[in-house]
Amino acid sequence: MKALDELTFDNRFARLGDAFSTSVLPEPIADPRLVVASAAALALLDLDPAQAEQQVFAEIFSGHKLWADADPRAMVYSGHQFGSYNPRLGDGRGLLLGEVYNDAGEHWDLHLKGAGQTPYSRMGDGRAVLRSSIREFLASEALHALGIPSSRAACVIGSSTPVWREKQERAAMVLRLAPSHIRFGSFEYFYYTKQPEQLKELGEHVLAMHFPQCLEQAEPYLAMFREIVERNAELIAKWQAYGFCHGVMNTDNMSILGITFDFGPFAFLDDFDQNFICNHSDHEGRYSFSNQVPIGQWNLSALAQALTPFISVEALRETLGLFLPLYQAHYLDLMRRRLGLTSAEEADEQLIAKLLKLMQNSGVDYSLFFRRLGNDPAAQALASLRDDFVDIKGFDAWGEEYAARISREDNGTEQQRQTRMHAVNPLYILRNYLAQKAIDAAEDGNYEEVRRLHQVLCNPFTEQPGMANYAERPPEWGKHLEISCSS
Ligand code: AMP
Ligand code: MG
Repeated sequence: MKALDELTFDNRFARLGDAFSTSVLPEPIADPRLVVASAAALALLDLDPAQAEQQVFAEIFSGHKLWADADPRAMVYSGHQFGSYNPRLGDGRGLLLGEVYNDAGEHWDLHLKGAGQTPYSRMGDGRAVLRSSIREFLASEALHALGIPSSRAACVIGSSTPVWREKQERAAMVLRLAPSHIRFGSFEYFYYTKQPEQLKELGEHVLAMHFPQCLEQAEPYLAMFREIVERNAELIAKWQAYGFCHGVMNTDNMSILGITFDFGPFAFLDDFDQNFICNHSDHEGRYSFSNQVPIGQWNLSALAQALTPFISVEALRETLGLFLPLYQAHYLDLMRRRLGLTSAEEADEQLIAKLLKLMQNSGVDYSLFFRRLGNDPAAQALASLRDDFVDIKGFDAWGEEYAARISREDNGTEQQRQTRMHAVNPLYILRNYLAQKAIDAAEDGNYEEVRRLHQVLCNPFTEQPGMANYAERPPEWGKHLEISCSS
């Protein structure tokens, strides 16, 4: 385990030079204090979690101090926002402090969000509020614990610095970790500004640093694009299977590594609703829950356009065509596992579709349904779940099909099915109302709740003593929270 001053930097992206990012120093926030830290994320940097308790930790991750080897930079990019091309975006309030490599030989970007204005801030103040910083922190770590690829969050530092959103709030910073912060929009920027040499430089960098295995292929760029398609198909299948709604799937928020990235008004579904829109400024539902799948493909085609200098249109089209079948295969696999099935039958797709339709019509709690289905022997579990459905007859018919389906599985005992299901069906989910309670307390200076919620979400599949209230359905007020899009 290392101390803070023992981190080793190797700023590979910064070395690409000023065409790719601009050197900017963090602007400190006042009276920094640790709100919450993730021991698991700090371990990625080989940092001892006890370091987080030191005042110098809060000072560094609030912009007051900096390592001599850090090379803080605002990255440039562009992207398609709600379907329209925005020619110039970039880190408007976050800085890539540098890349740290750990004892395992991995590089991790240290990205400090809320670090002040940059040349890309446009009209923004360069800040992030405590509320959205806590949400990003909890979501990153909760997704990771669920096995869903995500950027990570090492800590949130709060402050007394006022910032104005709909009302006065306090500024905070999140230290985000990811193997790379390069987005689809990074490629789009160099493509649309007609900088072919820089586009190539970016491509070579990404290949060498993040897709070295593709360099051995006959067409490295095509192999890389294929891998990006595969990773995104798998990522979105996980979002859909676990009820995660990203909310702002603009191409500048899509990671080339296929990890969940750039959190805004995201939500995990409480009641199952295909048409759920978590982003209140998304009036047309472009990024509604079920639209995440076609939008994933749309975003990949926007990236494909930027890669046309390297890959034939025909090959790009063919590779894009892999997205839906790959998505569907991953999704089915995950849903089968959520239902406790270990084999595949043709009719499983129908079985899943029927269940979702019944859930949709009755507003059944998405996460708890699967957890409860694995609580008891099937007949008993089905009997205890049927009261949640308006169409009881419909559910009973589904239950008969399900019972018949699992009886055809030749895979151990009832007890083993239940254990298998509990290992993939979380008991604890980052529900909006739970995050909101933790935020309300934190805004009053009490960080106990956010720390406890974080701990609970680190082990979402394991029942934790005394934490039953984190596994409950939301109260009515908690189902219809309007999460502010300003952050
Ligand atoms: P987002 O939708 O959060 O991914 O942000 C879109 C763009 O707006 C990015 O380039 C952000 O850096 C920028 N941005 C968002 N909020 C602010 C802010 N408060 N100050 C400066 N730039 C911002
Ligand atoms: Mg963004």
